Formats: sequence, structure tokens, C-alpha cells
Amino acid sequence: MRYDVRGAFDISGKIIFPNIEFRLQSADDELWNNIIMRAGLRNYLMQFKNMYAGRDAENIADVIRRHIIPNPFLDKSADFDTVRKGLYCGGCGRFDLENRKYHLVCESCGSKETKETHIIRAISDYKALFLNEKLTKRRFQEFIDYQVSRKTVFLLLNKYCNRHMNGSGSYYTFKYRSFEDAYNQSERLWRYKDYPAE
Ligand SMILES: [Zn+2]
Repeated sequence: MRYDVRGAFDISGKIIFPNIEFRLQSADDELWNNIIMRAGLRNYLMQFKNMYAGRDAENIADVIRRHIIPNPFLDKSADFDTVRKGLYCGGCGRFDLENRKYHLVCESCGSKETKETHIIRAISDYKALFLNEKLTKRRFQEFIDYQVSRKTVFLLLNKYCNRHMNGSGSYYTFKYRSFEDAYNQSERLWRYKDYPAE
């Protein structure tokens, strides 16, 4: 590409991992300065919004544009109205769950997961599915089809998310990188365990 522009310029950049399913673990903190994960991509790109570096930059941008490879993956945000609502079994993925006091039991495979586990998974799913849709209490309850009480949902949203004020309302952002992250790092609110199917 440098040859196409015939100009002298330095190339610096970051490695971007756009796949929402991608997980990366590293003990090297330096690494995080050089990579952008999907969740941070939007903010990363926003910082260039008002940058302008003259005609040379425009030429370079034009060359880059000509080298763009079409994205073979679906990168659109899901449509909230058409996604299936409700919680599903972490073992087999089916939506038929029996509601107990602190657990939801899968009617297909018998796996028994706490409501807390289900809510963490739902928050993580919501974040992955709806890139431009803010997570509000009302939206989230609709997303999980009201299968967990309002009070428990609020408690868990406040535990696993940061709350942001937005005019007269508020919305939440997941504190963790992924479901696994939240699942492994958090102290459980209640002392109930998950029982995978045998
Ligand atoms: Zn199941």
C-alpha cells in the first residue's frame, strides 16, 4: 500500500479483533496497549472522528478505502424485536426451564443453574447481540422474558454492571469482558451452586 501512495509516511497501528466470540488472555499488560477488542472498537474509532491531516491524509485514506476487503461475517446488530426472549440452558441451549426459588432447571437435560448465572449470561449476550442498543432495566427484563424477579434483576445488574445516568433514565454497561470473566471473578451474591447435567 505504501507503494500505491508513493509518499513517505509511517505506519503504526493496532491489532483489532472484531469477532465478538474472541477471547484473549495475557499476563503482559503492554499487550493491551496494542490491541483493540470488539467491545472497545467503537470508542477507538470515535477518537478519529474530528482528526484531519490535510490532502496527503485524504489520499492515503482513499488508498485504504480501495483495499478494504468486504466483511464475510455478519456484523450487524441483532434486531431486538425479533430475537427470542427468555433464558436458556447453559448446558444444551434449550429454552424450556423450570423456575425454582434460586435456580432454573432445564427440562431437557436436567442442568440446574442459579438465577445469578443466568443473569450474567444474559447480560453478556445482550452486550454481544445489540451493539447499539443501551441496556436498560426495562429492556433487559423484556429480554429475559421476566423469568427472574424485578428485584433480583436490579440487584444483579447493579452488581455486574456500571450504571450511567442518561437524562431522566439510566443504562448499564457490563463490567466484565465476557461471561466467563464475570463468572470466574465474582463473589456470588448467594451461596447456591450450579449443577451441570450428568
Ligand atoms: Zn439443558
